Amino acid sequence: AKEQGRATFEFFTRELNKRAYERLSTETHLRGALANDELQLVYQPIVEPQSGRIRAAEALLRWNSPVLGRVSPEQFIPVAEQSGLIVEIGHWVIETALMQLASWKRLGMKNLMVCVNVSAVQFWRGNLMQSIQQSLASSGLSGRDLEIELTENVIMSDVDKARTVLNQLRPLGVRLAIDDFGTGYSSLSYLKQFKVDHLKIDKSFVRDLKTDSDDAAIVSAVLSMAQDLHVQVIAEGVENAEQLAFLTDRNCDFIQGYFFSRPLPPNDLMRLWARTNR
Ligand code: C2E
Ligand code: CA
Ligand code: CA
Ligand code: CA
Repeated sequence: AKEQGRATFEFFTRELNKRAYERLSTETHLRGALANDELQLVYQPIVEPQSGRIRAAEALLRWNSPVLGRVSPEQFIPVAEQSGLIVEIGHWVIETALMQLASWKRLGMKNLMVCVNVSAVQFWRGNLMQSIQQSLASSGLSGRDLEIELTENVIMSDVDKARTVLNQLRPLGVRLAIDDFGTGYSSLSYLKQFKVDHLKIDKSFVRDLKTDSDDAAIVSAVLSMAQDLHVQVIAEGVENAEQLAFLTDRNCDFIQGYFFSRPLPPNDLMRLWARTNR
């Protein structure tokens, strides 16, 4: 038993060291990523199912490191948060997405807005207001062209303070979406405290809609509640026609997912838009 205990201990130590090492290595390389042009944004269309038109595009980070290769945001965003790098990266995301939208608009793409993910550290420590104002000024766009996506957990960690920050953004016209809806605290009380424009149903509920009756019940309940509260719903992770049918039968306002399109580089999104929105 003692031997086994030691083996287990050594296994965990090795695993911990490996993870700590990976984290450190990710952080080291992420430090130079912005300056070295290794970060890019791809854009996933958010579509109105009745018309098939693209109404918004969510900006999603991609990192291609010359040393580490492609690193997924699930891996590097937490590292960026813990190291504080997310403040600088998050600002770059807002600025880049707005500059992209400005250039799309000059090319004739009308009635489109960009959605950006805002992480906890960026929301609480990042001077979000200044970052947004600066990016609006340099892109020449209005706050109405931008939607920020926040998770419930970020809001619930301090509802009063969140309300203060969000009330500052409101006069600019910036919209608010609740991301990963249903996976967090799911206290709905905040819906009364400030205006929420969109709820994004997490893709984990959409995935098994056909086979899991609990997921189907949750999605139906969220859709009918949102209708009563006059909040529009975006379903994430829609991959097939059955999921789409389930959602449109229940009047889901917007869909996002591989069924319509993967996240795309800017030029590809423009080509898709030309087919769907003209
Ligand atoms: P998220 O905000 O929930 O974004 C949705 C994720 O689902 C994206 O993963 C997207 O590529 C993926 N997805 C879209 N459609 C489908 C589908 O039909 N099926 C499946 N299985 N997946 C789909 P991605 O791009 O890997 O991003 C993962 C997460 O990383 C995001 O989840 C978000 O939390 C974070 N993230 C990405 N970009 C940023 C950013 O600029 N800032 C911050 N703070 N977080 C970001
Ligand atoms: Ca999101
Ligand atoms: Ca999600
Ligand atoms: Ca997420």
